[in-house]
Amino acid sequence: MNHDFLIVGAGIVGLSIAREIKIREPGAKIKILEKESRLGMHASGRNSGVLHTGIYYPPDTLKAKLCKAGADAMFAYAEANNIPVRRDGKVIVATSEENAKGLDKLMANADANGIRAKRVNSDEISQIEPHARSEFGGIYCQDTAVIDSVMVLETLRAQLMAKGVTIDTDQTLIGINDEQRTAVTQNRRYSYGQLINAAGAYADQVARLAGVGQHYQLVPFKGLYYKLAPEVSGLIRSSIYPVPNEALPFLGIHFTRVINNEVYIGPTAIPALGRENYGVLSGASPIEALTIGAQLAQLYVSNPQNFRNLVHSEIPHYRKASFIAAACRLVKQLEPDWVKHSPKVGIRPQLVNTRDVRLEMDFVVEQGSHSIHVLNAISPAFTSAFAFAEWIASRFIWPVPN
Ligand SMILES: Cc1cc2nc3c(=O)[nH]c(=O)nc-3n(C[C@H](O)[C@H](O)[C@H](O)COP(=O)(O)OP(=O)(O)OC[C@H]3O[C@@H](n4cnc5c(N)ncnc54)[C@H](O)[C@@H]3O)c2cc1C
Repeated sequence: MNHDFLIVGAGIVGLSIAREIKIREPGAKIKILEKESRLGMHASGRNSGVLHTGIYYPPDTLKAKLCKAGADAMFAYAEANNIPVRRDGKVIVATSEENAKGLDKLMANADANGIRAKRVNSDEISQIEPHARSEFGGIYCQDTAVIDSVMVLETLRAQLMAKGVTIDTDQTLIGINDEQRTAVTQNRRYSYGQLINAAGAYADQVARLAGVGQHYQLVPFKGLYYKLAPEVSGLIRSSIYPVPNEALPFLGIHFTRVINNEVYIGPTAIPALGRENYGVLSGASPIEALTIGAQLAQLYVSNPQNFRNLVHSEIPHYRKASFIAAACRLVKQLEPDWVKHSPKVGIRPQLVNTRDVRLEMDFVVEQGSHSIHVLNAISPAFTSAFAFAEWIASRFIWPVPN
């Protein structure tokens, strides 16, 4: 065996697991495989950079267990390592009487998950975020923070390498024999004690190579962003979010003052044609588009979690006018020429349970003979990463008896 641990994917999840292993077992021999030539090319380098509080997640979920602990750990890590981070807070605003009912649920989550949150009326919202729509009330989350995600990845990479972890870039894992504990890339062969699959949008494919997660498929959704013109960006002090649809894993288009003080609007959750379909058509092969199309069609017909509604509301967001209309609901005024094009776009790989035909709402981790597969590292996996890694280590690598 030439590595105790072979980790597939150098995104935030793979790096955080390597960090956790090194904390527990400093002498462990760890190799990370990364198919790209540099870090941050996919979700971990293309997200909103928000450290969420965990208010969205019902208390019996892994997301609820890990989000707050993860945010606290990430915040402390950033401060200790001079990574830009700012606790700006955010308001969640209701946009109708009906929608305001969702605020009670969110407050109940906050209470159960030990999160600081305050119900705020119109006057209070106007004091915190004067440009936010406020007539239906909202919630103020003072602990929401923004962080430089790419710098987190780079700092982790440097620290891990200093501790002897090796990262082989330009190496795509294409085969696993989990019984024999061997794996192959396009031109190298590795043997391992345990393989950890943290391959993000490809985690389902990697799992299948090890014979795991046969009834799961990742379906990509495109997260497009616009930017607020600099001359009006002062209208948004921190972040303004809508009350999300609790049946769906996406939070809805929102305003975020990111760590460099630009204000981004987005992201969308438009069904995409490929796992790297960052352009209109680029990054999607016809075969992949067909497979994804079939999966989307099945969801559309079965309509779990009112999936049709998501499709009907999200696809129009390709048009700027429709995007602005969605963003407009959150603020008092938004002129079309205030909303500028942004090259920022991310892919949100969402796990579909093909046996039950539904979108998985929580993190999902499955085990093979000698492998662990992180199958649904969706938001808030960046926020939760350190706590998630700790949970994976104590549950699967060094299981602690209950
Ligand atoms: C638009 C958008 C906004 C988001 N906003 C937030 C937010 O504000 N806060 C938050 O907490 N979360 C947010 N998220 C979610 C968060 O970014 C992700 O949950 C997290 O980054 C997932 O990390 P990962 O390591 O699993 O995936 P990735 O970052 O995608 O890393 C996986 C890595 O595996 C590599 N890989 C894939 N296949 C192979 C293979 N076969 N061999 C070798 N390497 C391989 C890839 O190249 C990639 O580098 C957002 C996501 C998106 C897309």
